Amino acid sequence: MEHKCLKCKKSFNLEDRIRCPFCGFRVLVKARVPIVKKVKAR
Ligand SMILES: [Zn+2]
Repeated sequence: MEHKCLKCKKSFNLEDRIRCPFCGFRVLVKARVPIVKKVKAR
């Protein structure tokens, strides 16, 4: 499953360990799920 690190913004594949292999950050998001937090100004 592909995850993306919220710290260094790098995506990578993880299976068991939920930790960024680049910076060791433990807050990741699933890259498959499009998390778009754009708020359109009305
Ligand atoms: Zn990272």
